Amino acid sequence: MKTFSQIIGQKRAVDFLKRVISGDRVPHGYLFTGINGVGKSTAALALARAVNCTSDTTGDGCGRCITCRQLSSGNFPDIMSVGPDGQNIKIEQIRELNRGLNYKPVSGRFRVTIIERAETMSEEAANSFLKTLEEPPQGNIIILKVVDQRDLLPTIVSRCQRVPFNPLNRDVIKGYLVEHHNQDESTAYLAAGIADGSLGRAIEICEEGFLDNRRELIELLIGLFDMPGDQVVETAIGYGKKFSKKGQEDKSDIDLYGVTGIWKTCLRDLLLVKVNGNCDMIENRDYRERIQGLAARHDADKLIEGFFLVDSYQRDLLRNPNTGLLMEKMLLELKMLSS
Ligand SMILES: [Zn+2]
Repeated sequence: MKTFSQIIGQKRAVDFLKRVISGDRVPHGYLFTGINGVGKSTAALALARAVNCTSDTTGDGCGRCITCRQLSSGNFPDIMSVGPDGQNIKIEQIRELNRGLNYKPVSGRFRVTIIERAETMSEEAANSFLKTLEEPPQGNIIILKVVDQRDLLPTIVSRCQRVPFNPLNRDVIKGYLVEHHNQDESTAYLAAGIADGSLGRAIEICEEGFLDNRRELIELLIGLFDMPGDQVVETAIGYGKKFSKKGQEDKSDIDLYGVTGIWKTCLRDLLLVKVNGNCDMIENRDYRERIQGLAARHDADKLIEGFFLVDSYQRDLLRNPNTGLLMEKMLLELKMLSS
């Protein structure tokens, strides 16, 4: 069941929506902006519930009326969604939508139509949609979703109530993961940092097994410093195979871009500890002691070189498709730096 009170960290957007839909004349066009995973989809469903619940006073739906029950089970007939078919939302899709909007809602007071990735509307489609958006047939609410409103025609934007959804604060995401997804504090903190403001992404990170991969990769990087030469060669060849395109069939595995991302956080942590001497600012807090130990044994120059080495491999990835070879070379070069 999606309700306004489930949405976290978006008080302004939620208060605004609750206020405008409680008036006598409910506005019919909305533009939800913001990165993925910050509450736009939940808000669209919460809005559908709030305007259609037959016995609600709180803005969250009563949870008992037929509309609320249909919405909870995903069987509410007056909710529609249109999104890109291939690259674009095509003119035919908008024509079909325009026809559909002329019918009265089946069950509720309002039919709610959600346009996913509205920025993908072709120019023709957008122009054909303008009139609908200005004056849709009675009983219709249209919600456009987009990351950045600058990707839409100004004529579309100006016809909507604009509702920005902000990237979420790291602590807010961390708290949510601890409370609702059974994560421990340090894992939640880390996932929240990697997710960069998106709760949806943070939840995916926790579910993907990303954190297990991370553990293995940090162990590998830290272990590399003390590994005997012949073992390094063997390890590099092994990981080279694992990260070649063929070895990457399992989608749950992290890709080389993710590897370089994690290693950069480690090398930055090592540098921070080396320069500041304290661990308050480091990302990988669960490796605090080993990072302190390593930082004490290596020069800042080497650590800086290591960071830029990994960074350059991360950029190479964009043009070199041979990921296996890159992984192998990167490991060997890192080892050479540390010895
Ligand atoms: Zn209800």
